[in-house]
Amino acid sequence: MSTLLVTGGMGFIGSNFVLYWLERHPEDRIMNYDALTYAGNPENTASVSGLPQYRFIRGDVADRMKVNEAFQEEKIDIVVHFAAESHVDRSIADPQSFVRANVLGTQTLLEAARTHGVSKFIQVSTDEVYGTLGSAGLFTETTPLAPNSPYSASKAGADFLARAYYETFGMPVVITRCSNNYGPYQYPEKLIPTIITRALRDEPVPVYGDGLNVRDWLYVQDHCSAIERVIRQGRPGQVYNVGGGSERTNLQIARHILAELGKPDRLLQFVADRPGHDRRYAIDSGKIQRELGWRPQCTLDQGLKRTVEWYLHHEAWWSKLPGSRPNSASQRTNGGD
Ligand code: NAD
Repeated sequence: MSTLLVTGGMGFIGSNFVLYWLERHPEDRIMNYDALTYAGNPENTASVSGLPQYRFIRGDVADRMKVNEAFQEEKIDIVVHFAAESHVDRSIADPQSFVRANVLGTQTLLEAARTHGVSKFIQVSTDEVYGTLGSAGLFTETTPLAPNSPYSASKAGADFLARAYYETFGMPVVITRCSNNYGPYQYPEKLIPTIITRALRDEPVPVYGDGLNVRDWLYVQDHCSAIERVIRQGRPGQVYNVGGGSERTNLQIARHILAELGKPDRLLQFVADRPGHDRRYAIDSGKIQRELGWRPQCTLDQGLKRTVEWYLHHEAWWSKLPGSRPNSASQRTNGGD
């Protein structure tokens, strides 16, 4: 039996991970530590909130006292650190909040984990730290970090701190760098839920620039299974890239979803490009496949079908979120990463 401290467990990937883990490891305990920003939604974990092995603590990862209190409440074995400001468009509007949450927050958590002692610390990171690619090539774990947005720069800063805590203090830190996730509970400011929710309402579907930016897509449950492998077998001090091997342009994704929903392509609306918009991300996940035996289980076609169905059946979940309407005051996105 282990106790996991999951930060950001009310957000998209974190909540999927909490549900994934408790279903497969009911003997383990999970402490979900989340500040409940706009992106954190307790409804995401409602199905496990009554379980004795689950508890929620509302707190900011950059709040040193609160983080230490959480570590004092029970002995933590494993930290899985998802909590972050995660949306590139918001990072362009307000870079400082990203530095606070992602850089200071990660260092605060690392320090508490070092003080109290843990058997593993998973720093959940992104392929965006590598910057952008031309039309060929893949990011490997040795690709130099060259982040281009305040979001990816703050995640790179967090990754460097995680690395330093391994090198300097010998902390058992492992970093994962994953490509774009999609699936249930993703906030409707990100590309795929933006396309689905706008199309369902027959509203214009915004596409940045020429729509030819390329991303690699991974169904969120496959990301959870990769993290599970890393928790079990990942080597401290290592980085593992995680990807779906499913490169598509944003335009291909938008057209695929419109076709899935039986909506016309004329809903597509090309809008001014995001500043500093990375052209292409593509990831080599050979290391985690070879060393830890991980493989994605869900194809992009299957995953998109499941995701579209989930949003169709969960309108009550997404329709009340700020940002799900194109003209809402809090709308800051045209549905990018
Ligand atoms: P999200 O925005 O959906 O959720 C983030 C969660 O963190 C929310 O519940 C929010 O309340 C919480 N949070 C934010 N700031 C906090 C703070 N200061 N203290 C405590 N909690 C805080 O994000 P997501 O898409 O689920 O991403 C989770 C992690 O995975 C992030 O670290 C992100 O960088 C990484 N990641 C995401 C993707 C992707 O495609 N979404 C891909 C690779 C890596």
